[in-house]
Amino acid sequence: MGPIIAANWKMNLVKDQVVDWIDKINQSQALEQDVSLIVCPAHCYLTMLQGSLTWGHIGCQHVSEHSEGAYTGGHSAAMVKSCGAEYAIVGHSERRHIFGETNADIKAQLRQCHDAGLTPILCVGETIEQRQSGQFESVIVDQLSVLSSQPNPIIIAYEPVWAIGTGETATPEQANDAHAFIKQHVDNKSPVLYGGSVNASNCEGLLSMPSIDGALVGGASLKPDVFSDIMRISSTLIEA
Ligand code: PEP
Repeated sequence: MGPIIAANWKMNLVKDQVVDWIDKINQSQALEQDVSLIVCPAHCYLTMLQGSLTWGHIGCQHVSEHSEGAYTGGHSAAMVKSCGAEYAIVGHSERRHIFGETNADIKAQLRQCHDAGLTPILCVGETIEQRQSGQFESVIVDQLSVLSSQPNPIIIAYEPVWAIGTGETATPEQANDAHAFIKQHVDNKSPVLYGGSVNASNCEGLLSMPSIDGALVGGASLKPDVFSDIMRISSTLIEA
């Protein structure tokens, strides 16, 4: 199996752009390559992808910690699953920092994913202050603690907060060390993706590292040509 390359569109793209994106990725030469593609659009585009993406898998960016009921604006794991999602991003740093989600919320969301049959992509990562003050390991261990009651399977994404959307990437060595630490902590059972300003120029260095199993790509996933390049380059690098 080749690398897992996941696209996190965040709150971007309007419908015509999504049509264009799907069309280009369907035609992409990367189609021939051995990449496990996961596309995570805004919830409103899930059924569009379900109906027109000819390869790869669909994920969502968030699920509610509740299963159903009076939670205006929420989307349950069962809803996104019924609209084509197989994966769900959980614990993204933007959800933790902007929306104030806690480990307790994340644990509840993992439980919802499990009950609905979605594979979570759990994001972990330290801020620059935490890295500089030597708290990297304790922060990651705390974020991984939500897995204590989580049955497999799961994908983990190491996303240093200081590298998300900043253009600043962890060096391949920094990322590899972090991945090795995470893998050791979860008994090597789960693939670990790197996320944080991945682009077509830096993906080769990152995905050549032995502990990096793929990438979670934000900004660079919005441009189908660039994203295709990332998939094409990555496909030659990993044999997991
Ligand atoms: C992300 O938000 O998951 C991400 C990795 O973003 P970017 O690639 O834009 O840094």
